[in-house]
Amino acid sequence: MVSSLESSIGSERRVLTELPGPASRALQERRHNVVSSSVAMGFPIYIDRAQGAILVDVDGNHILDLGSGIAVTGIGHAVPELVEAVSQQVASFTHTCFGVTPYESYVAVCEELAALTPGTHEKRSALFNSGAEAVENAVKIARHATRRSAVIVFDHAYHGRTNLTMALTAKNMPYKDGFGPFAPEVYRVPMSYPFRDGLSGADAAARAIAEIESQVGAQNVAALLIEPVQGEGGFIVPAAGFLPALSKWTTDHGVVFIADEIQSGFGRTGEWFAVDHEGVIPDLVTTAKGLAGGMPLAGVTGRAEIMNAVHEGGIGGTYGGNPVAAVAALAAIRVMRDRNLVMRARELEAIMLTSLNALARDVTIIGDVRGRGAMIALELVEPGTTIPHATAAKAIVKYCNDHGVIVLSCGTAGNVIRLLPPLVITDEQLADGLEVLAEAVRDVN
Ligand SMILES: *Cc1c(COP(=O)(O)O)cnc(C)c1O
Repeated sequence: MVSSLESSIGSERRVLTELPGPASRALQERRHNVVSSSVAMGFPIYIDRAQGAILVDVDGNHILDLGSGIAVTGIGHAVPELVEAVSQQVASFTHTCFGVTPYESYVAVCEELAALTPGTHEKRSALFNSGAEAVENAVKIARHATRRSAVIVFDHAYHGRTNLTMALTAKNMPYKDGFGPFAPEVYRVPMSYPFRDGLSGADAAARAIAEIESQVGAQNVAALLIEPVQGEGGFIVPAAGFLPALSKWTTDHGVVFIADEIQSGFGRTGEWFAVDHEGVIPDLVTTAKGLAGGMPLAGVTGRAEIMNAVHEGGIGGTYGGNPVAAVAALAAIRVMRDRNLVMRARELEAIMLTSLNALARDVTIIGDVRGRGAMIALELVEPGTTIPHATAAKAIVKYCNDHGVIVLSCGTAGNVIRLLPPLVITDEQLADGLEVLAEAVRDVN
């Protein structure tokens, strides 16, 4: 049954109607009458089914997915192993609440997280539903373990939309505007941003540390929270040495180093975790997005003595580590291993960088091509300057959408195009998507 669905979709982009087509436009009418206009509206084609890197909309258009639902469906859509695992679990039981009566899959996910996250120390995990919930709990745990309150975050950071995580997130519009007051004891310091600051990793770390020490005081800091490759903030890869220097500073001062690997983790950058590229071993790691192949699941994993510092019942929630999501994570991790998708991310990096660097030589609006693995971005600038060019990013996204390709923008100034293809995308599909992107950039340039 699963394989007949697979063969019925095929692997090619195919646009049959104008986009959005008539059936999507009719659904859009219904949406306007009942869905809050506060919910983002990216590309309003309504999806009927999907397989691999192809989404099929309600008008029968086959759309190439270079966004993976924001780095979630790394293993691709409708993967048979995941479909099977989830279907069986739904038929067995869908919920007990792990804190009321436990089940094996939660424990098995924590075993996998202990094995996959950096470092060989004793680890413990707790599971949640969303990335924001994981980040919020990591901060709670770090505060409880250190009995300190300050949290250090970085320019361009994105950590979620709950009250505490809005405070941790940098960008005002659309994430924070009008939603204050925000949680206190959050201090923001400069990120390493090689394209814009030209600093070495060591110098950028020294700059951040000097601000922390003069404005907050190391002895007041519970946690330093950082995305090893920033996601929503613009796929900013810090200069080599930045993360190791910060990690060392946290160790020297009893500060909990929290790596937010929600977007960069689970093979996306060509290592299981982005910190692995520099051998950094965080005290706590937050995971979500790529963890469970599209089912809502998130985790906090880290040093046993920190994770166990909280009293029993101090951390939890009704749905955290839901059994359907937990078996999906186990299936997704199996697929990642069986298909060697971490290595595949490196191949995708090579293909994307070759193509985009060639494109950058031909046009004037690409200021920087950067990223790791299957997490690659173009930063767009006004020709001949480094001034962010957000209207170009918008126009490129629209051109790609009009031609049946999903690409996403990001960046504090909205001037970055990011590519997050499913790791199972074929070479042919990726070449097709990059060709459309190149046409879009040339059209806008
Ligand atoms: C998406 C994201 C979050 C928030 O995850 P949600 O599941 O949307 O709550 C937090 N941190 C990073 C780095 C993210 O990319």
